[in-house]
Amino acid sequence: MTFRTRFAPSPTGPLHLGHAYSALIASDQARAARGTFLLRMDDIDQVRSKSEFETQAKDDLRWLGLDWPDPVMRQSQSHTRLHAALDQLAAQGLIYPCACSRRDIETAAGAPQEGVPTHGPDGRIYPGTCRGRLMSDRTPDDAVRLDLRKALAVAGPLPQFTETGPQFAGTHRLDADDLIATIGDLAVARRHMAAAYHLGVVVDDHAQNITHVIRGQDLFDATRIHVLLAHLLGLPVPVYHHHALIRDDTGKRLAKRDDARALAKYRAEGARAADIRALLGLPAV
Ligand code: GLU
Repeated sequence: MTFRTRFAPSPTGPLHLGHAYSALIASDQARAARGTFLLRMDDIDQVRSKSEFETQAKDDLRWLGLDWPDPVMRQSQSHTRLHAALDQLAAQGLIYPCACSRRDIETAAGAPQEGVPTHGPDGRIYPGTCRGRLMSDRTPDDAVRLDLRKALAVAGPLPQFTETGPQFAGTHRLDADDLIATIGDLAVARRHMAAAYHLGVVVDDHAQNITHVIRGQDLFDATRIHVLLAHLLGLPVPVYHHHALIRDDTGKRLAKRDDARALAKYRAEGARAADIRALLGLPAV
């Protein structure tokens, strides 16, 4: 199998050390496997995505010594593919429009019950208020949700996926009861958007023929959603590698607004790519 991986930042802020770690690991693994490293802009959220962050990300990544084939795929240009995926799920009767605000969901969910999870990798577990509505009734103000129980009924034997990252290495099989208890009816499209992150990432990874998804451990839990969506859409399931997260001195995960760790700051201070590699504990190239 040819090895194809990608780094897929959302251009909603400057890249920081955690992004550098992810991109360098992906590029190093692609080089070791004589494969391909791709860049993708996950800019489906057109309100928060800014072209200056995309330009800055490319400059930072080149400064780190990374290289990728052009053109760079942009999720905002994937609408045809994303609509086709939604149509495919709709044709099986697996999705429904949802008008609930966060507050509606909190209210409908009621008081938490001991031992029952309230949140999963798609946020608040949805109480099912709009389940049963028809896609033909969707308005632009509606999100779209997967009817998880229906999806599991048509899914047949659930797939497994291979994880090669340090913390979760092994084979993981999806489990219907676990999906129902910990994820629920996840959003596949947000209001006024062609897709939600989970559907976008699955559809675009397939469009780029990605064989290996390399990203931070914070997304390990969401992988069950991605594998399920790939399975429902009849797409191959890639191999996953979730690497450790780079944390600040207090142990907190770095965030885009954490300008202190922005790569641009290290560049401005005269650091070189080799210094960043050393700082991140990555071997020199
Ligand atoms: N765009 C996502 C992010 O910036 C990463 C998507 C992925 O690697 O699956 O967090």
